[in-house]
Amino acid sequence: MTAGRTRHRGAVTLLLLGLGACATRPARPPSPRVGVIDTLALRAHTFFLADDLLLGRETGSQGSATAALYLEAQCRAQGLQPVGGSYRHPVPLEAVVPLPDTTFLRVGARAFTVGTDFLITGGTQNALRGFSGAAVLVGSADDLRRNPDGIPRLDGAVAVLHGVARADVAALLARRGAAGILQIVDDPATFALYLASRGTTLTVLREPGIASSFYADLPTVLVGPTVATVLGQAGTPIELHAVFDRHPLTADNITCLLPGTDASRGDTAIVFTAHYDHLGVSLPDASGDSVYNGFSDNAVGVAMLLGIADALRQRPEGGLRHSALFLFFTGEERGLLGSDYFVARPPYPLERMRALINLDAGAPPARPWTWRLAGGERTPLGEIGRDVAAVEGWSATLSAATANSDYFPFARAGVPAVFIVPGSAPYEGLSADSSQALRRRWDRYHLPGDHYNDAFPFTGLQRYAEYALRIAEAVDTRPWPNPE
Ligand SMILES: [Zn+2]
Repeated sequence: MTAGRTRHRGAVTLLLLGLGACATRPARPPSPRVGVIDTLALRAHTFFLADDLLLGRETGSQGSATAALYLEAQCRAQGLQPVGGSYRHPVPLEAVVPLPDTTFLRVGARAFTVGTDFLITGGTQNALRGFSGAAVLVGSADDLRRNPDGIPRLDGAVAVLHGVARADVAALLARRGAAGILQIVDDPATFALYLASRGTTLTVLREPGIASSFYADLPTVLVGPTVATVLGQAGTPIELHAVFDRHPLTADNITCLLPGTDASRGDTAIVFTAHYDHLGVSLPDASGDSVYNGFSDNAVGVAMLLGIADALRQRPEGGLRHSALFLFFTGEERGLLGSDYFVARPPYPLERMRALINLDAGAPPARPWTWRLAGGERTPLGEIGRDVAAVEGWSATLSAATANSDYFPFARAGVPAVFIVPGSAPYEGLSADSSQALRRRWDRYHLPGDHYNDAFPFTGLQRYAEYALRIAEAVDTRPWPNPE
């Protein structure tokens, strides 16, 4: 890693001496060319997918159906094949709305209003019910993760914690007998962002019993500062009374395959994943914009997958030796619903997935050269990713998989899976200050202002997709995971 960094700094020095970015590389032939990601296509895909017409691509909405149609059309245009007989993998869902007049949270003597003071966040069929019990303060979600043995017996009490309990922490609390979970978000701005971007409607998988990678399988509420102030002491009675309106929804994962060129390897696949859903329409920002367009989250990931498919198809051999599988998930923003459902009801066998690469870490506004491979710890895939980075003069660190994007359900099911995340070092050829300024200018994570913009530079996304492509090429040719 150190050697890579040194080589890289050499290149930066040349740039600083005034040779300019173009002087360090040969002149580019007209795009597209073999093995290179076409930035014009990345622009066109994100221009369409992040348009207001798609209304923020909320799972189950008309906007998300339009995005799905676009993706299927793109797969067809590239000659990619359907998977299990279809480009569509339907995900049966249910929209669940707590009725405001009959739903309340009572803490001691005070009652609080859903959508203003608290949100219901348990996202499995089993979690859609009320609870009551005495408050037991159990610390922070991070404490519980670090020290699960320190959790007291709960025996019908309500576990009160700081931070957000994902499925892993909730499972620990359920085992100790918690009746429900109350999560405190201390920072008012963070709580306001939850209220604005999520709203009160829950989207859940309709089939009971499908394991959630993300959601607590216990009734759970998320509260802001107003509720937190009356939660001073242990033993306070807490009651959630919840009445829901429910209606079925369907959204599709889009699944496309580029067949492998080697008959002996084509029955296993290198998998690329990105979610195409976003948050939809919710509370307006100061300018009155209420469409959460999700350009950087994750129109760009989807566009990179299409760019990778195009680059692979244009190789002289027409693809990789292994098949390349492109999975565009719905329901990610609603808690990894599309990927959890795919893993539970896979139209392509998980055991024939050689490696999986997930792209969902925003839109770097310049070229990253440091990376983190989440899920890459202790896997040959992580090691390959690190080697590939070193060859390019970049560096990559490895970290454990967490339930923050669609690779996680696969990692949990034993598929070697990494989520490529651009690192925090200054961008290639730029100072720390200019990199920070660029990040500040373009970072609109989960805000209505996350639009497509002609002025946005796409070279960072080209680099991001090329890193994914290089890792896939290395996985395709190296004798891994089993000697061949
Ligand atoms: Zn995302």
